[in-house]
Amino acid sequence: MSRSPVPSTPAREDTLPVQEIFGPVPQGEGPYTGRAAVFVRLGRCNLHCPPCDSKLTWDTSRYDLGATCPPRAAEDIVAAAVALGAGDHRLTVISGGEPLLWQRTRAWEMLLTALPGKIHVESNGTISPTGLTRQRVAHFSVSPKTGAMGAADPAKRRIVPSVLADFARLAEQGRAIFKFVAGDLPEVEEIAELVRAHGLPQGRVWVMPLGDSAESWETAGRAVVERVMEHGFHFSGRLHLALGVR
Ligand code: SF4
Repeated sequence: MSRSPVPSTPAREDTLPVQEIFGPVPQGEGPYTGRAAVFVRLGRCNLHCPPCDSKLTWDTSRYDLGATCPPRAAEDIVAAAVALGAGDHRLTVISGGEPLLWQRTRAWEMLLTALPGKIHVESNGTISPTGLTRQRVAHFSVSPKTGAMGAADPAKRRIVPSVLADFARLAEQGRAIFKFVAGDLPEVEEIAELVRAHGLPQGRVWVMPLGDSAESWETAGRAVVERVMEHGFHFSGRLHLALGVR
């Protein structure tokens, strides 16, 4: 009689907290909108944005993160992403939460080493990419938090000048963009002031209207689009809201 091998429990340092892995879906935001992508959403964040649409990854006041983001072995994450089509022409987008919280772990290294194809990372711009992350990640979508998004955290926690300068250099090299959220005109002006103060490359800035539904996104979009154009920024959709997909 043959027995299937008993799966061994992975060492803790070989795991990452995973909220969800899904795809392929069109990337919904920013310059890669429409590109086929598999998303890996990791748990935990160092910020607490009130309009966050990923509270399952960090909000311990509402969720048991052990249940919403259980640890998964890096090799299991890779297998799940590949089963959904990661690699070849499909991107893998590692999101969160704040995924760069994990970049110094062995599991992160295993993940980045084993994932095939292009890897994109979505970050809140408070942690600089180091080592393998810097080498292996093709594109960083960096979203510093301003306006309503940043309302719950002090500015010094949300806006880290040395990290923004680092990502600005990557943006100049074509490897990063900045994606801000704006719900109204004063928030667009706050973004413009931050871009000016930190010398972020204007042509690498996207502004995405605040909205968690196609309707609310459209309302905010109509309110801000003209001013976004006047500042020379790009405008980001949220394709997944319009299509009613993830
Ligand atoms: S940084 Fe992103 S994941 Fe973290 S709380 Fe803010 S919106 Fe949510």
